[in-house]
Amino acid sequence: MRRSIAAVALSLLLLSGCAAEDKEYSSSFFAMDTYMTLTAYGDGAAQSIDGARAEIERLESLLSVTDEGSEIYAVNQNGGGTVSDSTEEIVKFSLEMAERTEGALDPTIYPIVSAWGFTGEEYRIPSAEELSLLLERIGYEKALLENGHITLKDCMMLDLGAVAKGYAGDRAAKILKEQGVTSALLDIGGNVQAVGCRPDGSDWRLGLRDPLSDGLLGVISVSDLAVVTSGGYERYFVGDDEKRYCHIIDPHSGYPADNGLLSVTVIAPEGAKCDALSTALFVMGAEGAVEHWRKYRDFDMILVSEGEIRLTNGVAERFELRDEYSDIKLVIIE
Ligand code: AMP
Ligand code: MG
Repeated sequence: MRRSIAAVALSLLLLSGCAAEDKEYSSSFFAMDTYMTLTAYGDGAAQSIDGARAEIERLESLLSVTDEGSEIYAVNQNGGGTVSDSTEEIVKFSLEMAERTEGALDPTIYPIVSAWGFTGEEYRIPSAEELSLLLERIGYEKALLENGHITLKDCMMLDLGAVAKGYAGDRAAKILKEQGVTSALLDIGGNVQAVGCRPDGSDWRLGLRDPLSDGLLGVISVSDLAVVTSGGYERYFVGDDEKRYCHIIDPHSGYPADNGLLSVTVIAPEGAKCDALSTALFVMGAEGAVEHWRKYRDFDMILVSEGEIRLTNGVAERFELRDEYSDIKLVIIE
């Protein structure tokens, strides 16, 4: 591979820089429980990146499940409440995606995510009895959203963690475009939102992480698209029983998804949709994901399992497997 590799510990890595003469402005910060780096090129880059960062921080302050001042925190404590337009929009979108994915994505999953210790990082394995009681508290169909007012029954609680970063990426990209930026790369904790192409007119080149090591399986070339990965390797713990438990929960069982998929990458223009789908498809497993893609065909995906990568035909031409991984089987989904 000719281009240099910027080593950042994220699932998707920016692989190349830009021509030295381009005006570049970059801002790195911690928000939404992850490191973000926003980079834009050209006149006005600095001001628009600062605006995009402020928007992401504003969204975090509305959507965080742990921040006692957030709207979602208040809704979770009070069994509902009236929320701002942004919170309404993301909750509405999450409920629609929950319906579309038949509950594989479920924004009411919070009590179960919390029982496994994924919010406070005090990991534990809940008993089967505890999980069956908690399962009664979740179910997106029971969450009501009407005219900006959320109603949660049965001690339900929302967790927008599976969609918030993708949504924030869309909002940040919109701000940049409105301010005339035509070339930017937003790395939102491994969710990448590409605005336009690189300053020299070529595609952005993103590394796809090998879920089993720190290496890169290959390179995806994109412009003006979001690329979002969900993987069990991103957050997990090993229980006393020596088993690995990851942070993505199957809402039908209450247990972490464990179906052979190591990571799912979704590519589409909208970051929120990519984020919702990458989590949901990870829960569905490879067969469910392929079935979902065949039904909708409004996104591209890369499914990584041990020894095999399945990818939709739209992304096949954008993906280059690295030589070190030539023994991996590549299967194109039609
Ligand atoms: P992501 O990294 O986008 O796949 O989102 C994972 C995060 O979403 C987890 O850390 C949980 O907070 C939350 N989550 C886990 N499982 C689900 C699920 N099935 N539906 C919705 N949110 C989930
Ligand atoms: Mg997600």
